[in-house]
Amino acid sequence: MSDHLLENLDAIKNRIRSACDRSGRNPEEITLVAVSKTKPDEDVVQLLKAGQVHFGENRAKALEDRMSSINDEAVHWHFIGNLQTNKIKYMAHRVNWIQSIHKKKALKEVEKRAGEENRVIDVLIQVNISSEDQKSGCDPKELESILKYAQNLKHTRVQGLMGMATFTDDLEQVRPEFKLLRSLRDEYLHLNGGAVDLKHLSMGMTNDLEVAIEEGATMVRVGTAIFGERNY
Ligand SMILES: *Cc1c(COP(=O)(O)O)cnc(C)c1O
Repeated sequence: MSDHLLENLDAIKNRIRSACDRSGRNPEEITLVAVSKTKPDEDVVQLLKAGQVHFGENRAKALEDRMSSINDEAVHWHFIGNLQTNKIKYMAHRVNWIQSIHKKKALKEVEKRAGEENRVIDVLIQVNISSEDQKSGCDPKELESILKYAQNLKHTRVQGLMGMATFTDDLEQVRPEFKLLRSLRDEYLHLNGGAVDLKHLSMGMTNDLEVAIEEGATMVRVGTAIFGERNY
């Protein structure tokens, strides 16, 4: 057992609180997703015991393994990585959130698999907001048609948008990218209805969570600042 994880968790909560104070927001509006990728189960268990319940993984196999080794109803599992449609069936029995949906075909598969499990899965539509081409997510132009398609789903709830900013230390470069995600959310609020309710903006990681909160994030996904550097 190590104390540093709990200290790190406290430090992150303080960062979230200060960013909320500065921007006149309520820290209770912000969900902290602890990104445990590549880290041992015991780290996750230790944080869980300390009250952290949202955890994220970016590989389907890692998530599947984690969900079975830490078999605890209290956990809200988030899939946050590049999503191959044919991997959805391996997570549909337990995953709570899939943050990285970027096409109708993936929504259709989530709907089918969640239906088979008699479950409802919360999803976010990932939008490409970064200037780096290789970042995944749909083109902002595709959002309208994806959201219209999603309105009629029964086992899938679209709760908002997710975005990853350009990987850079220049926080003033990432700010307009977060602004873009927020303005897209606002632009499509009129499509709320049926299975679509655009209340969440998942944006902000270890390096840029303050800027993300200032720009309206309701979920931040934090790995390194909680678990330490990853070796791979
Ligand atoms: C790894 C990862 C994070 C967390 O990144 P850190 O910089 O370690 O906080 C957040 N979101 C996604 C999609 C990731 O893959």
